[in-house]
Amino acid sequence: MTKTAAIIVAAGRGERAGGGTPKQWRIIAGRRVLDWTLDAFRAIPEIGEIIIVHHSDDLAHVFNLTETCVLGGETRDASVRNGLEALVRSDTPPDRVLIHDAARPLVSRDLIMRVLKELDYNDAAAPALPVVDALWRGNAAGHVDSAQDRSGLYRAQTPQGFRFASILAAHEAFVGIAADDVEVANAADIDVQIVLGDENNFKITTPADFARAEQILRGAEMDVRTGNGFDVHRFGDGDHVILCGVTIPYARGLQGHSDADVGMHAITDAIYGALGDGDIGQHFPPSDPQWKGAASEIFLKHACGLAEQRSFKITNIDCTLICETPKIGPHAPDMKSKLAEITQVNVDRISVKATTSERLGFTGRGEGIASIATITLVQA
Ligand code: MG
Repeated sequence: MTKTAAIIVAAGRGERAGGGTPKQWRIIAGRRVLDWTLDAFRAIPEIGEIIIVHHSDDLAHVFNLTETCVLGGETRDASVRNGLEALVRSDTPPDRVLIHDAARPLVSRDLIMRVLKELDYNDAAAPALPVVDALWRGNAAGHVDSAQDRSGLYRAQTPQGFRFASILAAHEAFVGIAADDVEVANAADIDVQIVLGDENNFKITTPADFARAEQILRGAEMDVRTGNGFDVHRFGDGDHVILCGVTIPYARGLQGHSDADVGMHAITDAIYGALGDGDIGQHFPPSDPQWKGAASEIFLKHACGLAEQRSFKITNIDCTLICETPKIGPHAPDMKSKLAEITQVNVDRISVKATTSERLGFTGRGEGIASIATITLVQA
């Protein structure tokens, strides 16, 4: 069986990325750049061995990795050569090798497989994208000197794949400094098949690249949550009810420890529900006298605060009030405005609607009001 290895070149210092720590060890979307890169290669069963080439200053970063780690050299070529030599020393050297930049963490399985497939028919294969922008040559003063023909020009990417013996020989014979391994192969007259690259497989170089990679990786694991809430309060003596923060004159009042705002309680519980963090009763125990008669917006603001702390944004609120009377419709616009003010959710993402229960059950008999609410949280 054909044996395939991968060398991940992680020895660079990456000064252009800023931030002190070399970019391959910096965190994006909760993990180190190299960890994302490694995962892409670990997930390919055809790849039997992975070599990580790192800088001698970075021992602390690699000690917990299960892959073979070898020290890099003065230049990228020297680092790759050290990786190739480590494979020569292994029990059975591979038939083919993929060489990849650690700072391309968004390399996809499809792209790796495209390169491997071409290696079945070619001595070497590497991904690239055709240049589509116009090209200029500028002078030292920052002015355009001349236009450049872009036809036949490509932007090179990795992983670059080779027959192991031939790229090893090419590296041993190479003199000078090469930008990548295709340049080394080219110098040894190895024919390299161009494979279609991937725009997302960019090399993290600048601080803006970190932001872009973070956005793509977060997007791939977007955290969207739905929560529901249900509440009931019974009618008692009084001359008004408070629903979704709006006071409505009425022949009776709603009973409860707080202001008995059944709508706002359902919404608040929906948020706690989406966060997986209890309910109003746990955060504001009825046994605690300080919440007696409390305005329910305290509870709703608390739930919104918890969502914000965890980087969640409420993207919609849908609340249904269930009662025969009072009539809710005329007050619904005010209720939406009030909820928008408290939650900071745009009013066109808030719904307050009402239904009767066809005179059935406790709401039908006018014994109380029920409310259900659904909300959506999206991690920002
Ligand atoms: Mg309640």
